[in-house]
Amino acid sequence: MSSLTGVPDAQEHEALLQFLYMAPVGLVQLAADGAILMLNPLSAQLLMPLSSDGGLTNLFDALAPVAPDLRLLCRDFAAPYGQICDAARLYLRADAAGSGPQVLSLSMLKLDNARLMAVLSDITQQDLRERQLRKTDAWLNAIMTNIADYALVGLDSCGRIDSWNDSIGRVTGYPAGAVEGRPYALFDPAGASTPGQQLERLRDADRNGWTLDEGWRRRADGSQFWGSALISPLPGRVGESGAEESAYCMIIRDISDKRDISENLRRATYCDHLTGLSNRRAFFEAAELELARRQQSRRPLSLLMVDADHFKRINDAHGHPAGDAVLRRLAATMQRLCREVDVVARLGGEEFALLLPGVDQGAALAVAERLRAEVAQAPAAPPAIACTVSVGVAAMDDDVGGIDALIKRADQALYAAKRRGRDQVAAWSGAEAP
Ligand code: GH3
Ligand code: MG
Ligand code: MG
Repeated sequence: MSSLTGVPDAQEHEALLQFLYMAPVGLVQLAADGAILMLNPLSAQLLMPLSSDGGLTNLFDALAPVAPDLRLLCRDFAAPYGQICDAARLYLRADAAGSGPQVLSLSMLKLDNARLMAVLSDITQQDLRERQLRKTDAWLNAIMTNIADYALVGLDSCGRIDSWNDSIGRVTGYPAGAVEGRPYALFDPAGASTPGQQLERLRDADRNGWTLDEGWRRRADGSQFWGSALISPLPGRVGESGAEESAYCMIIRDISDKRDISENLRRATYCDHLTGLSNRRAFFEAAELELARRQQSRRPLSLLMVDADHFKRINDAHGHPAGDAVLRRLAATMQRLCREVDVVARLGGEEFALLLPGVDQGAALAVAERLRAEVAQAPAAPPAIACTVSVGVAAMDDDVGGIDALIKRADQALYAAKRRGRDQVAAWSGAEAP
């Protein structure tokens, strides 16, 4: 399970977007001036009757006919974060058929000085029935009563469960009363995190407005499901001592389906179908990440470009399928010689790239030489087809601007190895620069 700390990374952000996208309430994130930064399909649908020209760019403008004071209300809200308005009812147009107005519930939250969150839900039916909201945190209640597929729990300042919605039983198997006072990690596999890490997640939510963790979750009977757990701070509330204290809500969702889909998608997007190595795209994305990391820590980084020698002849002599088998064997050899953190990719054809974080040029040359020698040995397993590789080695230094420049150097070294007769390793030397 990934434990999330610090600033949300791209993957986490993507997961949150997915989460918001699927949420059965309207969620709109906006800038302090009302400019819409993000909205999910349901909120677009709910707000559409209010947009005069079909566009939705500013929430205050869109809601002006039904909530003229909203802009001022948000502007004058002095606290650093908190609930600006609480399940305000907006009465939209009355239906021509005379069935009464459509009623939206609007709650506004200030996340920080730059961001607001609007939670919208259609409460026309509720309004008709004059249903009582059960909770004092009415915006939360609006979500709690409308969401069926989520278990929603309230947490106190220490992350202990102090409230929950009815679906807790369906999602986690715990009878409602059995969770009170337990730490929120109750739903994680035993030992998945330390109490310190659990508190750190709450601090993360304080700092960033939310924290999302996708991973295995545990049901009451010990069985597991793949689920997301979103924790976000609730507006300040008054504790027993009369002082304001922090509180959180956590939404747990069973996303087993999504995991299967995204795993297949990930494989299709990032894996080379022939060898199972990373593909070109995965290589370049990983390389960008590695270069960004290197900016912070200045640790060494090396690249090996590997090209099979006279591969055309192998195909010609043994046929294309045998050639494929040789490529797979090369891939397996590379993977065996590399560490978990190395990026081993097939860039195309009979050409491979190995990105070795933390490895300087000298050590990279040693890896390259080992690889060359292993490949050149008579193959132990079928296909019994001899094959050699040439390898070009280059290391990152301050003159190398980016991954393209590093590849260029390694390519030049590879070309030198080919020129010198193949089945060779060559390192880039400035002398070979064009
Ligand atoms: P050099 O030593 O100069 O690299 O010679 P080479 O024959 O390996 O180089 P060249 O680039 O001329 O030919 C590469 C060959 O690799 C041509 C192509 O048929 C073969 N090849 C490319 N992709 C695949 C593949 O996926 N499977 C198989 N079996 N062969 C492939
Ligand atoms: Mg070749
Ligand atoms: Mg080639």
